[in-house]
Amino acid sequence: MSEQNAVSNPAPIIDMAGLHEIANGVWIIPDQHRIPLVPNLGIIEGERSVLVVDTGMGRENARKVLDKAREIAKGRPLFLTLTHFHPEHGFGHQVFAGEATILYNRRQRDELRAKGPGYLDMFRGFGEHVAKCLVDVQFVDPDLVYDGRLTMELGGRAVELIEMGPAHSMGDQVVWLPEEKVVFVGDLVETGVFPIVPFFPPDDADVNGNKWIRVLRRIAALGPKTVVTGHGDIGGIELIQIAERYLADMGRQVGALKDSGVAEDDVVARLEPVIRGRHPDWREPNWVESGIRCFYATGYDADAVETAP
Ligand SMILES: [Zn+2]
Repeated sequence: MSEQNAVSNPAPIIDMAGLHEIANGVWIIPDQHRIPLVPNLGIIEGERSVLVVDTGMGRENARKVLDKAREIAKGRPLFLTLTHFHPEHGFGHQVFAGEATILYNRRQRDELRAKGPGYLDMFRGFGEHVAKCLVDVQFVDPDLVYDGRLTMELGGRAVELIEMGPAHSMGDQVVWLPEEKVVFVGDLVETGVFPIVPFFPPDDADVNGNKWIRVLRRIAALGPKTVVTGHGDIGGIELIQIAERYLADMGRQVGALKDSGVAEDDVVARLEPVIRGRHPDWREPNWVESGIRCFYATGYDADAVETAP
């Protein structure tokens, strides 16, 4: 999610032409044109049923994803889950109501209920293309919720849904394929952009940098070979390590300045240009400031971060 250059960005429309398999029966609809607010989406086949991971933003995108999932499923029942509630990942779920069994973790459902309407208003202010995508978006409750961890048997393929929040959002979830060692991580990891830290106090201050770092270590400990990011490239475990290093470095620096009595705005003024300068090729540098402010709010919790998960 980003408000930067919202008006001049291309419309956040999923391009189905990029659909490809990263493992047998594990399909990706990639963010191939690197358009802001277009995520990487997944369709995971089992012998008995098929799981869709994320919907894209709005009804039109979600309809394309649903049609493709139906084509792949050839009559097998569909499930839908989300990596997290953010609009470009989940605000198409109404299209799946009655067509798929919708399955979230409880926190994700509660977060969508609590924040969905506010995010809809905020995103509709991000320019004409985004507002058009979000016409007639409605929220429906999932058919099923779980707490903690759930193993789905799709038929010849186990898929684990693991609740990870609060980190990037309250209800973050990863989708883990233990046989193929593929993990869908949503916006816990991205490439080519600064990590998205949606710290918007007082409306939404649930993002937690310290826990996010721990979560990245938990995901790395699964031993993934393929990491499907929320936006950007799909790659190996090094993508998780880059994100972890970025957040840990930021947290340590913000924490040290805060502990020595430097005011929040002065911490931003000192660190922001330095951190931006380290990644001249990453887009959306506006997220550096919100990352600094997020760590300033909580402080850097070395115990929580350094202790093994
Ligand atoms: Zn997000």
